Amino acid sequence: MIIGGEHRKSSDGSTFNVTNPATDEVLAKVPKGTTDDAKAAVDSAESKFGKWSETPAPERAEILYRAGEIIRKEQNELAELLTLEEGKAFPEALAEIVEGYDAIMFIAAEGRRMWSFVSPSEQKDKVCMVIRRPLGIIGVITPWNFPFSIPLWKIPPALMGGNTVVFKPASNTPLIGMRIVEIFERAGLPAGVLNFVTGPGSGVGEALLNDKRIKMISFTGESKTGHRIAQANALFLRRQILELGGKNPIIVADDADLNVAIPAILYASFSNCGQKCTAASRIIVEQGIHDEFLERLSNGADALIVGNGMNPGVQVGPLITEEARNKVQSYADLGREEGAKVLCGGSRYDDKERSRGHFFRPTVFANATNDMRICQEEIFGPVAAVIQARNVENAIDIANDTRYGLSSAIFTRDLKAAFRSLSRIDAGIGYVNQGTTGAEIHLPFGGIKESGFGREAGEIAIENYTEKKAVFIDYSYQRRSWYFSEAS
Ligand code: NDP
Repeated sequence: MIIGGEHRKSSDGSTFNVTNPATDEVLAKVPKGTTDDAKAAVDSAESKFGKWSETPAPERAEILYRAGEIIRKEQNELAELLTLEEGKAFPEALAEIVEGYDAIMFIAAEGRRMWSFVSPSEQKDKVCMVIRRPLGIIGVITPWNFPFSIPLWKIPPALMGGNTVVFKPASNTPLIGMRIVEIFERAGLPAGVLNFVTGPGSGVGEALLNDKRIKMISFTGESKTGHRIAQANALFLRRQILELGGKNPIIVADDADLNVAIPAILYASFSNCGQKCTAASRIIVEQGIHDEFLERLSNGADALIVGNGMNPGVQVGPLITEEARNKVQSYADLGREEGAKVLCGGSRYDDKERSRGHFFRPTVFANATNDMRICQEEIFGPVAAVIQARNVENAIDIANDTRYGLSSAIFTRDLKAAFRSLSRIDAGIGYVNQGTTGAEIHLPFGGIKESGFGREAGEIAIENYTEKKAVFIDYSYQRRSWYFSEAS
């Protein structure tokens, strides 16, 4: 852990193992932080807040630029660590590192702007403006599936806004999280401005939630955890961003070009082994193209190269843990019981190499209907269910029949179908002729319904981590006509 610039063990000396999901080998022993450690991290962030909040924003931005340069220079090494710890194929890991770089550079540039506005007053010789102030201490709690880019969507705007931070990474992936904090240290961030505590959500995480000195929690993870976090935040009327789960639909219209749609959907459903909040798990296909689509999708899924993400040519890595693989297997079995048909996959691998890790075959279900649990619950694995629709309007109704609302997509050449789906689908993100994944940092990201609350990145990134103060400056030096007339 890194608290006040000091690299520390847990206060009671306990540790937990971090393993490589492709081989099940132990990569490191990591401190299992305690509530005392969480408190020490908040103490540190509190003591550094005053000076950091008064550092001019362009000066804060310089540190972010330097951190970005380190990331660019060390991107291959960082991507290697990411693959070892999280499992995704190396090219995907590299793309995630570059996304983190993009995020930090985007926010560093904002440091010269920190836009606000000046406007005329209702009264003569008076000016109105809005200035930005930091919130205080920000708690950043992140998941394991994007353990580099997600913290870098949150920490740079928090720092840029003049806040101090306590960062708790997911327990499956603390190593790459620690590298983020070290990069900031090397870039010149004053000790204690960014603090790093490892340990279980139920211990360290809860201790952060229960510390009222934390003024905002920026969280990405499961919807269930999001509910718990929102409850804790309600107690303190604390600001929050909640980026949660998804059950993302892709509509394939009869006129779609399958040479474009199939590779895009394979990537959206199976990259990172389906462990993306934006993964496409429901593919809703118009009836005219349905049979051809099914055959081509399942052939494509069957042909994906699944293996250790460090091996050249591998396209899909393992699931994160054995527990995750058991969960995916139970959904594959459930889908069969519910009446869907497994066209490919549906089971683990039993060859020597892949049975060591948590690999699972890319799975395509046919004959799925949207009321099945496999179409309603987030499986978070390489499973896509294909649902037949009568027409595009019917497909949009099916797309909306879910408690989630994160990402969505349509493949069509028909402008009307494209715009109808963009305006009607209840989701925070919409794509046309692209899969449901592939966010860009300068656009707002987030979902509605049980997919979350608030947006990050985009024009709202700095807004999230600053408080606006309305300022009125009267330079008339006159008694205003609306004051009490007899007041002296
Ligand atoms: P979890 O919700 O299990 O965990 C996320 C983080 O919260 C981890 O650091 C975890 O710690 C911590 N945590 C767990 N319980 C508590 C608690 N009671 N108090 C405070 N912190 C807690 O999610 P996963 O890590 O399993 O991530 C996968 C989920 O994330 C999926 O549902 C996915 O859809 C979602 N996600 C959403 C995204 C979005 O932007 N909408 C993007 C990426 C993922 P620990 O690891 O120690 O348990």
